Amino acid sequence: MERQIAFADLKAQYHKYKAEIDEAVIKVMESTQFIMGSEITKLEETLCAYTGAKKSFAVSSGTDALMLALMAHGVKAGDEVITSPFTFIATAEVMALLGIKPVFADIDEKTYNLDPAKTEKAITAKTRALMPVSLYGLAAEMEQFRQIAASKNLALIEDACQSFGAVDNGKKSCNLSVTSCTSFFPSKPLGCYGDGGAVFTNDENIAALVASLRNHGQGERYHHKYIGINGRFDTIQAAILNVKMKYFDDELKTRIAIGKAYTTKIKQADTAGNIITPFIPNGKTSVYAQYSIRVQNRDKVIAKLNAAGIPTAIHYPIPLHMQECFKNQGYKEGSFPISEKISKEIMSLPMSAFLKDDDQDYIVETLCKK
Ligand SMILES: *Cc1c(COP(=O)(O)O)cnc(C)c1O
Repeated sequence: MERQIAFADLKAQYHKYKAEIDEAVIKVMESTQFIMGSEITKLEETLCAYTGAKKSFAVSSGTDALMLALMAHGVKAGDEVITSPFTFIATAEVMALLGIKPVFADIDEKTYNLDPAKTEKAITAKTRALMPVSLYGLAAEMEQFRQIAASKNLALIEDACQSFGAVDNGKKSCNLSVTSCTSFFPSKPLGCYGDGGAVFTNDENIAALVASLRNHGQGERYHHKYIGINGRFDTIQAAILNVKMKYFDDELKTRIAIGKAYTTKIKQADTAGNIITPFIPNGKTSVYAQYSIRVQNRDKVIAKLNAAGIPTAIHYPIPLHMQECFKNQGYKEGSFPISEKISKEIMSLPMSAFLKDDDQDYIVETLCKK
């Protein structure tokens, strides 16, 4: 029988921590404290200690985290927010939901992250915020964005949904700007076993707003100061993450080693030099939320891998400015040539802290053979 490799081996992960996770879940069940409570508080303290951010709020998803961050910063209908067209839909979707116009600027061809110079050119009188995305687990150029935002008096929110744990010159992603958002979707670097996310902030006023907005704009119970949402994180999921946070750094070390090993092995086996591996600038780490490579003949490469029991994915095949839901935004093919080019060449290989060394050898061998 052929091998069948998992794309992100969540089963191996669960089985490693099963005894502790099962116990933690049952404890919540027995307590009947299903909403908020001590598991949430403990998680939020752990997330702050880990990232260095002053405040964190566990919320219902990464998408809701982004929406709450925009709401807390007072970005509203008619405003413009600049982001990358080469990201998951949620980044710009929440803007549109709030009546905000997503304005795109092209990405850097090496890092695939939003280009600060192009971002600066896209600023108008209506721009209220910048939302760079730390794609595939590599922090965006947050220091450059911080300077641009400060000089133009704009809010800066990191979409760190893929980069929890990443480091940029000694500082952690989720603490590279006043406000940041991450996701706990199961296959993200810190995944729970359902939907979830968090907002991080170093600003007390933003913190107070996020706390209230995620709970129906409530201050005192049944006194609603703002229009908010039900953006709370499930307590059972918090209990699971409180177990997983104990092992997160170990998993991360393994993940990073596996990512680096992919690059070394591919460079060795790809004698023709057809494959472009991830570029990690000096001073940064990637947490490899995806291990994504670029190839010219993507359909063929995918067919070859899939036939050998190796699953693949494309993050992302269509840039946001080309999505049907944004067709009224005035962009067209050619508006962001780098994003368009990368989206035609990019593909992701199986990745998790539980990917076995010989499976990785098999993936690279299959990838590079004629
Ligand atoms: C996953 C992701 C989101 C959304 O997170 P959910 O928890 O799935 O809602 C937003 N932005 C980026 C870049 C993501 O990868």
